[in-house]
Amino acid sequence: MSAVTIINMPLVYQEKMKQLEHKLQVKEENIIVLKTENAILHLKLAECMTQTLKSNEGYAQISEIYNQKKNVHQIISDTLIQVSLAMQGLKLNLGLLRSFVVDHLENIQNRLKEQFQLLLNNAKIIQHSNQRLQGMTEKVLMLERSLREVNEKYNTEKERRKIMHNNLIELKGNIRVHCRIRPCLPINRQKLLNQQESSTVVTFALDDETVSLKCKRPGQPAVDKIFHFERVFKPNESQSAVFEEVRPLITSVLDGYNVCIMAYGQTGSGKTYTMMGPHSECERENHTELGIIPRAAEELFRLILEKPEESHSVEVSILEVYNNDLYDLLAYDSHAGLCLKRDIVIGKDGKSYVPSLTHKHAAYIEDVLDLVKKGLQLRVKHSTLIHANSSRSHLVVTLTVTTSAKSGETVDTFNSQKHKPIKTKLQLVDLAGSECVGMSGVQGVALREASFINRSLSALSDVLGALAEHRTHIPYRNSKLTHLLQDSIGGDAKLLVMLCISPCQKFTTETLQTLGFGTRACQVSRVPVKNMKHTLKMHY
Ligand code: ADP
Ligand code: MG
Repeated sequence: MSAVTIINMPLVYQEKMKQLEHKLQVKEENIIVLKTENAILHLKLAECMTQTLKSNEGYAQISEIYNQKKNVHQIISDTLIQVSLAMQGLKLNLGLLRSFVVDHLENIQNRLKEQFQLLLNNAKIIQHSNQRLQGMTEKVLMLERSLREVNEKYNTEKERRKIMHNNLIELKGNIRVHCRIRPCLPINRQKLLNQQESSTVVTFALDDETVSLKCKRPGQPAVDKIFHFERVFKPNESQSAVFEEVRPLITSVLDGYNVCIMAYGQTGSGKTYTMMGPHSECERENHTELGIIPRAAEELFRLILEKPEESHSVEVSILEVYNNDLYDLLAYDSHAGLCLKRDIVIGKDGKSYVPSLTHKHAAYIEDVLDLVKKGLQLRVKHSTLIHANSSRSHLVVTLTVTTSAKSGETVDTFNSQKHKPIKTKLQLVDLAGSECVGMSGVQGVALREASFINRSLSALSDVLGALAEHRTHIPYRNSKLTHLLQDSIGGDAKLLVMLCISPCQKFTTETLQTLGFGTRACQVSRVPVKNMKHTLKMHY
């Protein structure tokens, strides 16, 4: 409003105008202030909004956390529900289990009670049995004691019987007769021997001293023939069992006795097996199969080692008696392709000798075995030339032991009675087959062989017969065999006759003949055996 207009207005209005203008001015100032404040507030608002935005993000996170927490709570509460449900189920099962266990336990308890009762009853029974057992043990102990006493008595008696038997044998002149029954042969062996035997067994060992032979003739009842010998070997008895009975005789050789061991029996009865062992070289490699000859040689060398106070020398000679001729199996004539023939002569002392007989020195057991092996090979070589079958000849292996005192005085002189060397002989004889060869139908070489074997073996039997009957004349010289073995059969040697027999029915006649020969040998009574060490007499 212009100043003119104001001057024209009443005062009152003017006043009022002024007031109003003032008020307006104030108001405008207020508005400015308010605008400023508003601007400030806007700024603050903007700030606040920024902060609010920020706090909104935090809120979102918090709400997310809150939501997660809510979820976790949910899961926990779900889990709690499940757990409580499972617990309820478990409680139920536990209740069931408890009642089952209680039932079961009751059951077991009842059964245990029953078992316990049973156990008690059994314990009573055992106690009762124990008492009876104790009684029986005492009885058994008593029986054992008396059995031991009886055994001791039996052993003493056996020992006494053995001593008496030995004395008797010494008085009889020390002829021992053993009998060995061989087993039935397997077919392949029978073929090799050109024999066929049925499995009908008629010969048995009743005990270790008795042989029984069932004889059956057509139209007649069977008869059991009984024979007694010092020792009877059953078919299953081993080579070592046989040698155990022979062993003491080897001791005798070093004790100063002459010893002769001869195998008698038909072809195929086991003479060579008993004396040497199996035929083939490789079978003989098996030590358990070795026969008397290698075992005796081994024992001899073993005993020699046990006597270091004496000096011993061993010599080997091997003779074959074929068709009443003597062949030196250690002297081979390569030109003639034969072993050299030898003769027997009677020395001044009335004893028989074989001059120029080859004696090979043996320092060790192996030397003996080599010489015997060589001798046997020559026998085979020689046999193919002069006879077809080695069982058609007698084989005599002699081990001569010269014993002298170790003082060095081994001079071979009769003047010095002290320390004079002593010679003792161990003769090991594998006789020719004793089968009764029928002369009809046999011709040529076979007939000649058969008649010589028959003659030599009957000469052996005649010598035994003459000795048994104490005849003044003993027909030693009827054959080279008996002549050669004169010292051993009738002289001062210990003689062991090993009868070899087959158990089969087919060979009843031959077995009877062999057992008859053995019985005859048992009846021989000779002068007591002479001990070379005591008589101090030279042999050979
Ligand atoms: P021999 O010499 O009397 O003619 P052998 O000793 O040659 O008889 O024996 C004939 C066969 O019987 C051989 O094959 C041998 O191995 C076997 N034989 C003999 N005796 C026995 C035995 N006691 N144990 C096993 N086999 C044996
Ligand atoms: Mg033979």
